[in-house]
Amino acid sequence: MARILIVEDNPANLKLATLFLSRAGHLVLPAVDAEAGLALALAEGPHLILMDIQLPGMDGLTATTILKANPATAAIPVIALTAMAMKSDQEKSRLAGCDGYITKPLRYQELYAAIDELLAPLASGATPSTLVPSSADTGSGPRGLSDDPVVGTGPVDVSVLEGLVGRDRLVVLDFLAAFQTSTALIARELSSACSRGDALAAGAQAHKLKPSARAVGAIALARLCALLETAGQGNQMEAVARIQPRFEAEVCAVNAAIDALRKSWAPTRDAAPQDRSVPSQTPSADE
Ligand code: MN
Repeated sequence: MARILIVEDNPANLKLATLFLSRAGHLVLPAVDAEAGLALALAEGPHLILMDIQLPGMDGLTATTILKANPATAAIPVIALTAMAMKSDQEKSRLAGCDGYITKPLRYQELYAAIDELLAPLASGATPSTLVPSSADTGSGPRGLSDDPVVGTGPVDVSVLEGLVGRDRLVVLDFLAAFQTSTALIARELSSACSRGDALAAGAQAHKLKPSARAVGAIALARLCALLETAGQGNQMEAVARIQPRFEAEVCAVNAAIDALRKSWAPTRDAAPQDRSVPSQTPSADE
């Protein structure tokens, strides 16, 4: 087991990373911005740091540079997390001192491989066998989980998320709740960008939502995000304005589908009042 600091501002991404790491038996220290991450790194001396590059305020590369310049934290391996799969970003992260590089959306095989490589001396033989293998990023085709008819391939194909996080309903519902919260924020920002006529900002919001929409199986919403992103990047405000009402409608449909799922699963939830969806550590992973 290693102590791993995650610096990630997107709640859905933070939750997914936390889940993956917990299931592999690691203790997770979460931080939602660079400043909090730097403070935690100094205070806790983690074995490894996962650093999102795009953060509010100080960005992840600057934070990594600061970590590497401080003798107290310089030896801690840093894995950069970024949504931009560009060679130049990989190069920039290396220059800033990052020891590894992972492109979002997170895949647990890739994450575990990067961690194992950097934590080789700590490796204790714990295997991530509790996770369900998947190819959830495509969002298409049956996954052999069709025995649960609650939600098919409507606005939310929950089997996609189950493929990522497993079939524990509390975990799935918890993740969906975090997704709804971040989606509401992003939709509001996107709408206000549209009313300002700011296509670039609207596209940037859509870009933020797209990976988590894919991760929860909201495939139509992810496609609309991709359209908004492209139109926004091209500064095509008319196109953005045309797509935005469809986006709004799809957000409503996705929310309704998640609410319906929550309702239909509610009676089967055992009377467990505490939130055990993201344990700080999972003792079962190494025995
Ligand atoms: Mn970010």
